[in-house]
Amino acid sequence: MPLHFELGRRFFILTLFGYSLAVASAVLAVHFTSQPILKKMQREALIDHAASNAQNVEIRLARITQALTVVARSPEVINYAIGDFSSSERVKDFLSSIDVEDGLRRATVLDFLGTPLTTYEFEADAPTTFLPVELSVAAVSVVKENAEKATYVYRPSETPGHANFLITVPIRWRGMAEGALVFERSIDLSQIVDIKTTIGTQKLATRFQAQMSKVWGDEKNPTLMTPIPQTSFFLVLEPDQEAVRAIGNEIVSTVMISVGLILIIPFGLMCGAGYHSLVAPHKALQDSREQLRRKQVELRELAEISQRSNDAITVTDIEGKVIWGNPAFSEVTGYEIHEVIGKRPGDVLQGTGTDPEERDRISAAIRERRPVRSEILNYTREGRPYWIALSIAPLLDDHGEAYRFVAISSDITAQRAQKEAMLRAKREIEYQALHDPLTGLPNRRSLDVELEAICAAGSETRTLIRIDLDHFKYVNDTLGHAAGDFVLIEVSKILTKLAGNDDLAARVGGDEFVILLGADKQAEDARRLAEECLVAIRKEMEFEGRPCRVGASFGIASANNEIVSNSTLLLAADAALYLAKDRGRNTVATYSQKMHADVIEKRVLAAEIEQAIVEESFEPFFQPQIDAKTGGLAGLEALVRWRHPTRGVLTPDVFLPVAYQLSVVDAIDKIVLTKGLKTIEKLNRAGHQLPKISFNVVAKQLEDPALSDMTLSYNLAPTIIAFEVLESVLIEEQSTEFKFQIDRLKEQGFHIEVDDFGSGHASIIGLMHLSPNAMKIDQRLIFPLTELGSARQMVRAIIEIGKALGIQVTAEGVESEEHARILAAMGCDTLQGFHYAKPMDAQDLDAFLKRQGVPQRTANAI
Ligand code: C2E
Ligand code: CA
Ligand code: CA
Repeated sequence: MPLHFELGRRFFILTLFGYSLAVASAVLAVHFTSQPILKKMQREALIDHAASNAQNVEIRLARITQALTVVARSPEVINYAIGDFSSSERVKDFLSSIDVEDGLRRATVLDFLGTPLTTYEFEADAPTTFLPVELSVAAVSVVKENAEKATYVYRPSETPGHANFLITVPIRWRGMAEGALVFERSIDLSQIVDIKTTIGTQKLATRFQAQMSKVWGDEKNPTLMTPIPQTSFFLVLEPDQEAVRAIGNEIVSTVMISVGLILIIPFGLMCGAGYHSLVAPHKALQDSREQLRRKQVELRELAEISQRSNDAITVTDIEGKVIWGNPAFSEVTGYEIHEVIGKRPGDVLQGTGTDPEERDRISAAIRERRPVRSEILNYTREGRPYWIALSIAPLLDDHGEAYRFVAISSDITAQRAQKEAMLRAKREIEYQALHDPLTGLPNRRSLDVELEAICAAGSETRTLIRIDLDHFKYVNDTLGHAAGDFVLIEVSKILTKLAGNDDLAARVGGDEFVILLGADKQAEDARRLAEECLVAIRKEMEFEGRPCRVGASFGIASANNEIVSNSTLLLAADAALYLAKDRGRNTVATYSQKMHADVIEKRVLAAEIEQAIVEESFEPFFQPQIDAKTGGLAGLEALVRWRHPTRGVLTPDVFLPVAYQLSVVDAIDKIVLTKGLKTIEKLNRAGHQLPKISFNVVAKQLEDPALSDMTLSYNLAPTIIAFEVLESVLIEEQSTEFKFQIDRLKEQGFHIEVDDFGSGHASIIGLMHLSPNAMKIDQRLIFPLTELGSARQMVRAIIEIGKALGIQVTAEGVESEEHARILAAMGCDTLQGFHYAKPMDAQDLDAFLKRQGVPQRTANAI
């Protein structure tokens, strides 16, 4: 329990004690002063009471006596008393006539010697209380004293409240008492005696009795004797002390309550005042003492801690000069405390490696008397450098003024080394994560981060150049990967050199690079930079003494005040790059709105193509080929058509380029092949006996044995199946597998035809190697046939070559009668073109064939 509570409790108890004492003293004082007064008052009341009662008794007796005196003075009684006994009877009569009150028992007439002369009984056999002698004594004393008035003798009665009296009245004659008339009488005094009143009990008593009761009564309760006048007896009053005490007690308790109530106010005030003037100051004193004690403990602990601390602690004066140091300081620095006292720690501990800026910062803080934290290099006494984390704070006096400094430092050399190693490792990892290890250029992630940063910075312009090396694969394949790596490094050097300081050149794939231009640069700047890069990249490089050459295509995209995501921007640059490649490589293309629309359209088309493959919405149309000599049906070419759900029947120029980009042409070819074969099977079964059907395929597809296996699963006899491959197949170097498959196909009875011969890669050697069954002259050579002599010569030459090599020749694009005539004259074997029929679906073909009649080869020549 806190001491001030104890004090408060004691104070309260003391006040309560004082209060009780005050109330008790007041009560005692009242008690002692009131008791005698009370007693006195009671006594006075008793005396008054007794006096009036005594008077009452006297009056009562006097009234009775008066009546008796009249009797005693009657002549009959007087005569009788002096010896005239003749009147005896008359006396008796006279006596009997006395109007007596109840209680008169007998009357006796006695002579002057006390001799009873006659007695008159008022009641028969009334009990006698007094002896006859007493009557005589009373009579004699009256005579002797010559009394004029009556005398009384009293004796207690057995009836409570009654008293027996002997009343002696003198019988006088000529001024002398000659005898006495004695009455015996019981008087009812119940209104006066034997009554217990609030002040006491009163009795009649003879002198003797009264005397006795006075002797017996104790001193505290003296009985009160009041003589009854004219008589020899007394009214004795025994006061009731209990009653007095009860009154006293009542007074005391009333006093106690009122004093108690009255004293509550002064004592309450005293209590409050006492608390404020004693307990509260005491409590404050106690609190401050407790604080002081805690402070002392704290100080002791602090002293202990600083002694044991592993951190070096120094206390300096206001100028920063050491006045105290702990043992750890000596341990860390190697200096004894007395060696540094009066010196500035910086002057002793800091050296050449210490960062002067940091030093100045600390000095400034001390000058300005404010706290400072620092990490700084120190030197031990032996000159070993070590790093510390230093915290300096001013100590403030009661006025908030700095008067000293305390400096705490801990050795963080190990942590710092660790932190630095970690930072190095982190930087290394970050660098690796963001850079291409081969060229050292930022990588794809780095580019993304940079793009994000530009976006976040709210820059309005973002310009990108996407770069793809042309023929890089060729360098890799012919000169080896080392050469490939060399080229990549050279290119990255060129890009880094030509790109501005605020541009970012990154390698984002095998031979793909991106330059992200600085914020204020536009598409024109990008184009200029791209063209410079192109010139530099196309220059011949030398790898291990051997020349190598690459080119590059550039796609530029720029976002100007447009809300375009980075990925969209990259895609746009990609689209531009594809355009550049499409334009024949080594060019720069800039992304445009049109390109954007194309890209979107292409994207939609691509999705639709993929869906159409799943739904097999592709089907073959058939274009007849006519025998130039007979004019009969020489065969059919299956040409793909797409029954588009909304756009109707689409021709290959609409979707094949995209299908090539998606690499799904072989899937389309398979659908066309399967559906075409089914149609032929059906037509043959219908009795048409078709001579040949040609399918356009990608050369690569011929390597797949599944193609021929699937085809052979149909029963198509007598129809010959031919595969048309583009003329380019003639110049491409073909694998032995390809050649093997071609031979196999031929053996299996398939025909191989070279399509679009003369369109660009017409190779005689290629023709000789492949030795196809037929070659189809490109329609671009056929169209001008009627106008251009040169075209005619060219076509004639091709027909000649075919003849020389034993290869059938087909002319495509035969649109007119004239075309047909010229070609037939030149010796062309087969004719195909709108002149005969446009490509048609299976149903139309059926009708066409019916119109033509079967078989056709024997039909008339044109
Ligand atoms: P292609 O193989 O040279 O086919 C001949 C093209 O010339 C066809 O166009 C045909 O309709 C058109 N043609 C025929 N006679 C005439 C004529 O008198 N005048 C003119 N102006 N054109 C004529 P189509 O059907 O649009 O096919 C275009 C190209 O699409 C084909 O050229 C072929 O290279 C490719 N192709 C068509 N179907 C397939 C296929 O199923 N698979 C593959 N891989 N390519 C196909
Ligand atoms: Ca064709
Ligand atoms: Ca063709």
